[in-house]
Amino acid sequence: MDRVIIFDTTLRDGEQSPGCSMNHEEKLRMAAMLDELGVDVIEAGFPIASPGDFHSVQEIAKTVKNATIAGLCRAKKGDIQSAADALAPAKSRRIHTFLSTSPLHMKHKLNMEPGAVLEAIAESVAFARQFTDDVEWSAEDGSRTEDDFLCRAVETAIAAGANTINIPDTVGYALPEDYARRFRMLKERVPNIDKAILSVHCHNDLGLAVANSLAGLLAGARQVECTINGIGERAGNAAMEEIVMAIRTRNADLPFTTNIDTTKITKASQTLSAITGFTVQPNKAIVGANAFAHESGIHQDGMLKNAQTYEIMTPESVGLERSALVLGKHSGRHAFRKKLEDLGHTLGENALEDAFLRFKKLADEKKNISDDDLLRLVS
Ligand SMILES: [Zn+2]
Repeated sequence: MDRVIIFDTTLRDGEQSPGCSMNHEEKLRMAAMLDELGVDVIEAGFPIASPGDFHSVQEIAKTVKNATIAGLCRAKKGDIQSAADALAPAKSRRIHTFLSTSPLHMKHKLNMEPGAVLEAIAESVAFARQFTDDVEWSAEDGSRTEDDFLCRAVETAIAAGANTINIPDTVGYALPEDYARRFRMLKERVPNIDKAILSVHCHNDLGLAVANSLAGLLAGARQVECTINGIGERAGNAAMEEIVMAIRTRNADLPFTTNIDTTKITKASQTLSAITGFTVQPNKAIVGANAFAHESGIHQDGMLKNAQTYEIMTPESVGLERSALVLGKHSGRHAFRKKLEDLGHTLGENALEDAFLRFKKLADEKKNISDDDLLRLVS
């Protein structure tokens, strides 16, 4: 009941964002990493989009050992047929089809009347079910869809055979409380809702992707769509590492479990950065270079006494060896002495004080103090 399905879309929503494209070998390498990490579903691509995408989805379907492989398709038979063909070699496969349900998208993007949208949902989901029992349907722009129509669309998709229903915040517009309300409403009002797992899919345009995803889980969703390092369209998707570590760190308030081996998080983040050349900002939660680094004297002193003073998670829990005590102008004597000891220099009190004053002067001039700088200070 409290198991959350992690649906990773690094290779689809992530890959289609500027600067993040991957070639065939890179996608295979990333898919293997995601499988090792323990994600439940890998959305491997959009098979109709290009022959290259088709080929990648097919190879991933052939090679991945544990995860279910999903392919995305519009509400078109050609798309669904293409996804079914590409996914055929997978041990476990899912067809993921979507259609817009917001007034804005139906009118300006689809040029379809609401009744025609409902018909297309029923037809596309039923067609997808001919190829697999595992069909996900997404209400594109779901967070800007009218309540009554969202209920009808979801009921239609479930009646046609969808067993996962995803309500994307496609444009990153949602606020946590309103997003959660939609899930509670669907649970209350859609008569066949117990036949499907509800899913969140959030974008970070207002910096709320993770907050909205967690709000959706608390309101009854049991699948999260997310990406490694939060890559994705525009400001990105909800970052998997942030969701998984929030659940782990605040488990009394977020009483869920996932299948993710959190000690592989750093490796997965670095693998993706190395493949795409798309680096992570240093202050990024969980996987940024500074996420477990401390420079200020007060914090370093606390860390040396007991790491829990300034860390809510251990670096080991995300696969880092240890926290970094970075020496800079904000550092104090305690960390300075510890660092020198690590470098093999145990100084007496006077010598230490002298060296510390020289260190502070240098740190005022230089942003990064290297081990060589320190050794020069004491030699
Ligand atoms: Zn998206």
